[in-house]
Amino acid sequence: ILCQTANFIKSASQVDQCPADQGLEVAFAGRSNAGKSSALNTLTHARLARTSKTPGRTQLINFFGLDEQRRLVDLPGYGYAKVPLELKEHWKQHLDAYLTSRQSLVGVVLVMDIRHPLSPFDCMMLEWADRTGLPVHILLSKADKLSFGAAKGELLKVQNRIRREFGNRATVQLFSSPKRLGVEEAHAVLEEWLFP
Ligand code: GDP
Repeated sequence: ILCQTANFIKSASQVDQCPADQGLEVAFAGRSNAGKSSALNTLTHARLARTSKTPGRTQLINFFGLDEQRRLVDLPGYGYAKVPLELKEHWKQHLDAYLTSRQSLVGVVLVMDIRHPLSPFDCMMLEWADRTGLPVHILLSKADKLSFGAAKGELLKVQNRIRREFGNRATVQLFSSPKRLGVEEAHAVLEEWLFP
């Protein structure tokens, strides 16, 4: 029910182009190719985000409205090796500006490929959230790429490390877009954040 009516509001390439900073929003972050667009589409039963685009192309912050007061935000994918350093710095700055200035931001969903979790970018996001006090919910995506046992093992490993380094501020779950694994669990988190 949560996200079925999500519709595109606008794209911003700078923080001053974001929609009015009111109501509540949840941002989706992740390295390029981690499965962020797929996760957004799976969670909203819509085709909000374009999947399988050239990794690293999307530099825009895309806003989707659930209702007048609630939004999902697709942050630019990060960390694609072929993107020039200057561009990376540019993203980092405007990601930073968004994350630190946005009053309506109530939580971040961080999408990580279960086969490559906790990249330097992921850790940067977690540290940032730790500083600002915002909760982070981690989707270990592409869980279907591992056997169920291996996926569970990876989940425990990531959970332990997160708990050690970030306490209770971050939560972790398994996710698969094609198998729709973990959709209810992720919806519950979004509902808790957006309908407090
Ligand atoms: P983004 O760059 O983080 O937005 O990643 P995309 O959502 O575009 O996904 C990158 C690639 O991984 C695409 O080819 C997707 O079809 C694939 N993919 C995404 N999520 C999953 C998943 O849960 N399982 C599998 N097997 N493939 C996935």
